[in-house]
Amino acid sequence: MALIVHKYGGTSVGSVERIKNVARRIAKWQRAGHRLVVVVSAMSGETNRLIALAKEIQPNPDPRELDVVASTGEQVTIGLLAMALKEIGLKAKSYTGPQVHVLTDSAFTKARIIDIDEKKIRADLDSGHVVVVAGFQGVDEHGNITTLGRGGSDTSAVALAAALRADECLIYTDVDGVYTTDPRIVPEARRLHTITFEEMLEMASLGSKVLQIRSVEFAGKYKVPLRVLSSLTDPDMPLAEEANSGTLITFEEDTKMEKAVISGVAFSRDEAKITLTRVPDRPGIAYQILGQIAEANIDVDMIVQNISVDGMTDFSFTVHRNEYAKAMDVLAAKVKTHVGAKEIVGDPKIAKVSVVGIGMRSHVGIASLMFRTLAEEGINIQMISTSEIKISVVVEDKYLELAVRALHKAFGLEQETA
Ligand code: ADP
Ligand code: ASP
Ligand code: MG
Repeated sequence: MALIVHKYGGTSVGSVERIKNVARRIAKWQRAGHRLVVVVSAMSGETNRLIALAKEIQPNPDPRELDVVASTGEQVTIGLLAMALKEIGLKAKSYTGPQVHVLTDSAFTKARIIDIDEKKIRADLDSGHVVVVAGFQGVDEHGNITTLGRGGSDTSAVALAAALRADECLIYTDVDGVYTTDPRIVPEARRLHTITFEEMLEMASLGSKVLQIRSVEFAGKYKVPLRVLSSLTDPDMPLAEEANSGTLITFEEDTKMEKAVISGVAFSRDEAKITLTRVPDRPGIAYQILGQIAEANIDVDMIVQNISVDGMTDFSFTVHRNEYAKAMDVLAAKVKTHVGAKEIVGDPKIAKVSVVGIGMRSHVGIASLMFRTLAEEGINIQMISTSEIKISVVVEDKYLELAVRALHKAFGLEQETA
């Protein structure tokens, strides 16, 4: 008898019909003798609706109050799913994040989970209940409601699986696994049967929203077996078939197969570029600029400093688009005159496109193929960053889809490589 965590995303619980299907699927797993903890998101579109409401009142909503509002979507779905389970004869109990004490830090709208008290959940499991927990939310040490950032229910599920030392965490969603790129952009994208944890970490951090990055970090740290699979299949399909479907995130590279050099193309529209022009090129400048940005709790992604001309340089970096206005304010108030920059130029119309694959470690020529492909499409590269297993470029956002399609094709991701 295994302890399994299921997670159902917004589309998977997007209507009463779908919630009833989820209940049937869970019943099938319980009948097979498993203990189930189920994490759910808000119904699709609901979190967006709640955030838009808040913005009608305050264009820049107060973060604490925004979390109070945004977390309510999940409270609806846990109650509805628990009812659907009881309706078909299962014992079930729903809990909000604060009720099962998902303890987080106090970084409203992007809080990090510190600890989960699993005692209550274990007691319910022991008495035969399916435990339904609201994703995306927690509580800080002062009792404030917090949320974990968009897509955060994935992280709730993996963190619960880690805390409970679950045998597996199954992420049910509206695609049947992890693809070589977002199938909504490239219909020829191919589902991967397995992806290494390292590659998944890069794909998620570079914008593939199929899993929230922090969920992959948790899975890696606590070695949680993780699988992404479809919630839109027949809920009564044979369990053995379902349990092997989708994409498994593996900790070891599959050496039996001749792997493609590149596993996927990731992209993100969520960034903005900021440039400080004609900054004096002297020691400490990067620290003076980025120190203030870090002080304001804003994450910086790519950084580029041009070669200096006459002792002056341009300094560019990217931040999440949600934090762009805040970063511009910080620079205007605390940095511009201090470092002696001529201008602060902001550009929110950028996108980041990345190719990811552990095969890069043993192959040369990946960067040149990437740059040649973009050049042939007439796409200008504004920034470049690389790691051992990825290359990312910043391009103008209107070229994003073209760039993703061209790279997907150039790296032969449409064909089976096994
Ligand atoms: P959920 O509500 O279930 O959490 P999300 O919308 O957050 O679902 O994530 C699933 C979506 O992720 C898919 O519908 C797909 O459009 C998108 N996606 C982006 N990149 C990928 C990828 N590489 N593989 C699969 N899906 C991807
Ligand atoms: N409902 C939240 C969101 O839309 C969390 C999630 O879906 O994972 O971001
Ligand atoms: Mg999601």
